Amino acid sequence: MTQLIDGKKISAEIKEELKEKVAQLRAAGKEVTLAVIQVGNDPASTVYVGNKKKACEFIGIRSLAYELPEETTEKELLDLITELNQRADVNGILVQLPLPKHIDEDKVIKGIDPAKDVDGFHPQSVGALCIGQPGFLSCTPAGIIQLLKRSGIEIAGKQCVVIGRSNIVGKPMSLLLLRENGTVTVAHSKTQNLKEITKRADILVVAIGKPKFLTADYVKEGAVVIDVGIHRDTQNKLCGDVDFESVAPLCSAITPVPGGVGPMTIAMLMNNCVESVL
Ligand code: NAD
Repeated sequence: MTQLIDGKKISAEIKEELKEKVAQLRAAGKEVTLAVIQVGNDPASTVYVGNKKKACEFIGIRSLAYELPEETTEKELLDLITELNQRADVNGILVQLPLPKHIDEDKVIKGIDPAKDVDGFHPQSVGALCIGQPGFLSCTPAGIIQLLKRSGIEIAGKQCVVIGRSNIVGKPMSLLLLRENGTVTVAHSKTQNLKEITKRADILVVAIGKPKFLTADYVKEGAVVIDVGIHRDTQNKLCGDVDFESVAPLCSAITPVPGGVGPMTIAMLMNNCVESVL
C-alpha cells in the first residue's frame, strides 16, 4: 500500500510545537518579530503574504507588514531593509519575491542581515549550508527533509535524485539530502537519459515546474516520490509536477498536491523565525 505523506498534518504538528516554543520564549521575556515586505500588488504574492501573516498570528509571532507601492525604488527598499537590519526588535526579514523588474533581487537578498535571513536565500546562508555550518535553511527543501523524517523514511545511504537545480528548491534540496547522508544526483534541463537516472532513485524529488511531467515510466517500484510542483491543470484543479494517478500505485510513499510539500514551506519559515531568537 502506498503511504500518502500528509504535509497538512505534519505542518500542523510543527506549528503546534512552535506555538509552544514561542509561549516559552514570551514567558522568558523574548518576543519573536518577523518583518514582511511586499512591493506592488501581485495577486499570488498577496495570497502568500496573507498566509504568512496568518501563520505568524497562530504561532504568536508578531508580524510587521510593509506593503510598498509598485513604483518603490531599489534604494527605498534597500534603505528600509537597512533600517530593519538595525532594529533590535526585529528578528526576521522576509521580502516577498518576485520583485518588480526595476529592482535587482540579488542586491535586495544580499542587503538582508544574514542573522535575519529567514528565507535562507542570502549567499552566506547558502554557503553555510554548503559547508555544513549553522545558518538558515531554504524553507521548501527544509520542509521536505521534515516530511521524510517525520514519515519514518530513512535518507542515509539511499539513492536520492533531485530533478531541478533552482536556487530556491533543487540546489539546496540536493545539499540537504547530502547532509543527511543520501547519495545524491541532480538532474536538470540538460540532463541526458533522464529516465535511466530517475529509475535508480529510492527517493525522487521533482521540482521541474511542468505539470504532471513525471509519469510512471520514470519511477522505480517502491520509490519515495516528493512532488514540489504546483500548477492548475486544464480543469483548473491543483496538480503537481508528478502525474499522481499513474505514479502513486508504484511508490512506497508519495506527497499529494495539494497537501504535500506546499504547507511545509510556511511551517519552516515559522521555524526559522523562532530559531532567529534562539
Ligand atoms: P525553476 O523553473 O526555477 O526550475 C526548474 C528546474 O527544472 C530547472 O533547474 C531546470 O533545469 C529543470 N528542468 C526543466 N525542464 C527539465 C527537463 N525536461 N528535465 C530535467 N530537468 C528540467 O522552478 P523552481 O522554482 O525550482 O520550482 C519548481 C516547481 O516547484 C514549480 O512548479 C514551482 O511552482 C514549485 N514550487 C513549490 C513550492 C512549494 O512551496 N510547494 C516552492 C517553490 C517552488
